[in-house]
Amino acid sequence: MELYKNQPLKIYNTLSGEKELFKPIHEGTIGMYVCGPTVYSNVHLGNVRTFMSFDMIFRYLNHLEYKVRYVRNITDAGHLTDDGDVANDRFVKQSRLEKLEPMEIVQKYTVDFHNVLNTFNFLPPTIEPTATGHIMEQIELIEKLIDSELAYESQGSVYFDVLAYNKKGLNYGELSNRNIEELFANTRDLDGQSEKRNPQDFALWKNASPAHIMRWNSPWGAGFPGWHLECTAMSTKYLGETFDIHGGGMDLKFPHHECEVAQAKGCFGHAPVKTWMHTNMLTMNGLRMSKSTGNYILPMELLFGENTFFEKPFNANVVRFNFMQAHYRSVLDISNEAMLASEKGYNKMTEAYNLAKNLTASSTSTFDISEWSKSCYNAMNDDFNTPVLIAQLFEGVRFINVINDKKATITETDLEILISTLKTFVIDVLGINLEASKDTTSSSKLKGVVEMLIEMRNEARANKNWALSDEIRDKLAGLGVILKDGKDGTNFSI
Ligand code: AMP
Ligand code: ZN
Repeated sequence: MELYKNQPLKIYNTLSGEKELFKPIHEGTIGMYVCGPTVYSNVHLGNVRTFMSFDMIFRYLNHLEYKVRYVRNITDAGHLTDDGDVANDRFVKQSRLEKLEPMEIVQKYTVDFHNVLNTFNFLPPTIEPTATGHIMEQIELIEKLIDSELAYESQGSVYFDVLAYNKKGLNYGELSNRNIEELFANTRDLDGQSEKRNPQDFALWKNASPAHIMRWNSPWGAGFPGWHLECTAMSTKYLGETFDIHGGGMDLKFPHHECEVAQAKGCFGHAPVKTWMHTNMLTMNGLRMSKSTGNYILPMELLFGENTFFEKPFNANVVRFNFMQAHYRSVLDISNEAMLASEKGYNKMTEAYNLAKNLTASSTSTFDISEWSKSCYNAMNDDFNTPVLIAQLFEGVRFINVINDKKATITETDLEILISTLKTFVIDVLGINLEASKDTTSSSKLKGVVEMLIEMRNEARANKNWALSDEIRDKLAGLGVILKDGKDGTNFSI
């Protein structure tokens, strides 16, 4: 029997504001859509936190033996700098800045995104569609909305008519708990918005001038699709008109997800999503991490120690451990102290896990291991409560240490449950690698060898022997040791 049949999972649904017992639309299968990155610049650590929360959720659902179709898109067109209101395309702006084609920008930062996720041990989604690959689907949805008089064309652009939507008895604002009258009262009519009937109306299609490289033909002339519509098009195509879970960071609740609800209800006459999940923000210095304010750190800067904020580099498992110590709906502030504490915790867990494999079994058990294992499931079943889970896992660590000190005993069966529960939750569900043994002598030897090779490479460079210096770098990269040249010499990560 599948595991999920014995595990009553509760998930907090933004739509109802409550934790609900989760039941998929079709028994045993789950459709989950998560808004992916806008690939016009490097992902920062805050973005990584949100995607990592959904990676953990995907991993737990898989562990429960659900068949999960996990769709996470790549936004490679149409995400405007002003929430869909101004014809200001992020990709075009960035391509001018970097003197690259917009599609070179897309490629460069998609590769960066995937590299980062690989470094942090993410599972790939089951489908990763791009916005530019779904222009036809978006045009079809716009035509449907125009036919239902929920959208109108204006100077080659098409807008969603929020007032017309509400006149049909629908409620724009239901997901984010906003009231349309207040929304209208609080918006100024900005320049360039005059082609809209109301300032709250949002773009489904934007007219593009001939100078705009990223443009497609449509019944309304050449243009490009609005950001909100791409997620409706791709989620409907791969998961159907109604699916189980839709996720993203809290900041996407309004307007992005609110618009998705309105578009889908307008097109299909019913709600698109059963459970809306929103993850909370990563902060640094108490402020939300964000590219636009400059309060951010790139994942690789943390891993290589190339920053002024942290006193040393931290490896990807420690970062993952740190993120998982907070509940996905709580704010998490990243700090040097918290990272040092997580590193200690991670090392303690790794040591205990490796120790457990060498414990000797007895005829009796001091601890109730089955109860303990249940408590791990209970934590995850309570809206994926990873901090409570980690506290339970440390109970397991305590058992191991006490048994190792010969102050308690464990039977062979219980020892197996103990090890397999730790493996399940730490490695499979939290995605933290414990098996890369923390053998300090061999890792310090390896460090010494790499440092010696870096010195030899420096000599080769001083002698202008570029072939040899490149060979050392490339061969090390082939072994997974990445060298990075900076102002203060060469850093490396293993
Ligand atoms: P974007 O590429 O800007 O659409 O962002 C990708 C994802 O990262 C979205 O789900 C955002 O909600 C999320 N995100 C952005 N900033 C943060 C942050 N500081 N902490 C956590 N998640 C974030
Ligand atoms: Zn989206």
